[in-house]
This record gives sequence, C-alpha cells and structure tokens, in this order.
Amino acid sequence: MNSWEEMYQSTPPWDIGKPQPEFVKLEKSGKIQGQILDVGCGAGENTLFFSEKGYDITGVDFTPSAIAMAKQRAKQRHLNAKFIIQNVLELSNLQQKFDTLIDSGVFHVFDDEQRVHYVKSLGSVLREQGIYYMLVFSDQEPLGYGPRRISQLEIQEAFRDGWDIQQIREARMEQNLSKKWAQAWLASIIKL
Ligand code: SAH
Repeated sequence: MNSWEEMYQSTPPWDIGKPQPEFVKLEKSGKIQGQILDVGCGAGENTLFFSEKGYDITGVDFTPSAIAMAKQRAKQRHLNAKFIIQNVLELSNLQQKFDTLIDSGVFHVFDDEQRVHYVKSLGSVLREQGIYYMLVFSDQEPLGYGPRRISQLEIQEAFRDGWDIQQIREARMEQNLSKKWAQAWLASIIKL
C-alpha cells in the first residue's frame, strides 16, 4: 500500500467533507465554464460540488481508495460526476480536452522534476484559452504540518512558457485539523 492509499484509510486532513470555500467563491463569481477536470480530485468534494451545480465535470486521481470514496459519495447524493483512476502526470491518456482545470492541493505534492511533467500534462488536456485554477499551500504558511510551501515566484517560473498567469492572490485552504486553515495561493492561469 503506498502512502496515499494509507492516508485514505482514515480521513486525511484535506478531506473536509465539503468543497474548498475558494472554489465555492469562484463558482459564485461565474468564472467556471465548459467541461471541467478536477485534477487529483481525492475523495471528490470539489468535483461533487460542481456536479451538484450542474457542471459537466470529471475527477481523476491515482489513488483507488480515493476514487472509490468519491464514487460512493456521488451515488449517495445522486450526482453523475465521472471519476476515473488516472495518474495526473499522464493526463493525455484521457484522450479528452477540457475548458477548465481545477487543482485543489495537488501542485504542491510534486518535487521539482515531477512539477515539470505535471505542467506539461496539464497543458495536454486543456484547450487553448482554457483556464487552470490552482489552490496551493503558500510560503506565507509557517513550516510544520503539510506539503511543501510554494512561492509566487515558483508559480511564475513553472508557468512561464505557453501560459499566461492572470492572477495569483492570497487565499485560504481549509483542513480537517485543529488548525482550521492554511495560508494558500489561488492562481488563475490561462493556456496560450
Ligand atoms: N483535490 C483533493 C485532494 C488533494 S490531496 C482535495 O482537495 O481534497 C492530493 C491528491 O493528489 C491525493 O488524493 C493523491 O492521491 C493525489 N495524487 C498525488 N499524486 C498523484 C498522481 N501522480 N496522479 C494522480 N493523483 C495524484
């Protein structure tokens, strides 16, 4: 069992049983459109939120337990979101293009080398002028629990070629811990 599988044997800190409030706000602002891919969807709460709002959305994650939980929640809530087991470093395998990608806490799990592959993989499934919304742990969050902290400069460097960064703003990432949220960035990045 790999460490992701192990994390899903109990409730992982990022499974807050509801969507991340930053994505709820984005939806309210009317900025999400077309066919959506939730990249590294985990137990699926963000995917299910958009599905409930009537969007065409697919969630992918490579951890079978996470996808099983997401499918079960979709069934319980009578939602028709699609969930697929898929490595997000090889998204072209999906053989489908999307208008919007959402990433809640996935970019920050990769090391420098994987990050390069991840960004290429994102580009392979996003239509031109499509938009990638990313919520990641920020370097303003003190060190301690959790994934690597990400600076604005790192985001700018990762998306320098073939992308246009519309905005990177301060945000919060909720977590299922006594410390209820972590400092995050919400980045909106267009594929050229
Ligand atoms: N987006 C979800 C889960 C975030 S946790 C949420 O907000 O709740 C990070 C997720 O990335 C985990 O579910 C893990 O299984 C997944 N993951 C990590 N590396 C992956 C990879 N290479 N391919 C697919 N999923 C991956």
